[in-house]
Amino acid sequence: MTRLFRVSALLIILSSLPARAEERTFDVHVHLHQGESSLEEYEKQAAADKQEALGFGAMWFGGPNMALQGNPAAIRANNDRLIALASKHPGMMPIVTVHPYEGDAALAELQRVASKGVKVLKIHPHTQQFDAADVRVLALVRRAGELGVIVLMDNASILPGDCEKLFNLALQAPKTRFIFAHLGGMNFRFWNILAAARTAENLFANNIYFDISATVAMFADSPVEDEFVWTIRNVGVDHVLFGSDFPQYSLAKNLTALKQLGLTEEEEAAIRFENARKLFGLKAN
Ligand SMILES: [Zn+2]
Repeated sequence: MTRLFRVSALLIILSSLPARAEERTFDVHVHLHQGESSLEEYEKQAAADKQEALGFGAMWFGGPNMALQGNPAAIRANNDRLIALASKHPGMMPIVTVHPYEGDAALAELQRVASKGVKVLKIHPHTQQFDAADVRVLALVRRAGELGVIVLMDNASILPGDCEKLFNLALQAPKTRFIFAHLGGMNFRFWNILAAARTAENLFANNIYFDISATVAMFADSPVEDEFVWTIRNVGVDHVLFGSDFPQYSLAKNLTALKQLGLTEEEEAAIRFENARKLFGLKAN
């Protein structure tokens, strides 16, 4: 099979669910712990809630141990299973993983999946037990940038210094595009620094995106809601993506919360769909 064929086979063709332009949704943060059965559950839940996404980014890990160091064969097999599942499901974008501490083996696996058309790599300092400031992480994310692969990282501020380490990583790898999931969690206020970083000459490459999965549900209708909206605008509405963090939170719960923020229609549409469409090169039909 030629490389070209494999790449085209993985183009994300969004489903043709009827949706007005301003109501289209892409869910960038879905965990399919049990593969196809989790996918069925996700779709069933969204249909029951009448809140379906045109497309979604799906990862296979997030649970215990599966993506830990010392298990590269299992990681490879799971990446392949996810890619195969995505090829059968229009709208599903596979999000693979490697363990940064595997060094050259991690770089090789990244290259292998990138050649199959994979666009997003997820790595998770907390569940995969690595330090985001480690040189092997920098080497991996730089390689991702060279391959055009976007790096999604957990940013729920579970680990000490989470936001600070991720910010430094993004500054050291200016050619890599990052998505920091959950926009810093309860430490979201940190990211207002980006408004200042943009005023410093030659410092920040504007290579950070965020998803607001789960956090939008936490902060809508809360005492810090206004600050959260202020943060979304300071990091840049065009750099914020919508996600659910299924199965912990449903798509509908996140969408309801997003609507409560009081954003303009245009801002909401950008976060729900347009920013993802541009970042991932999605083809809506
Ligand atoms: Zn998650």
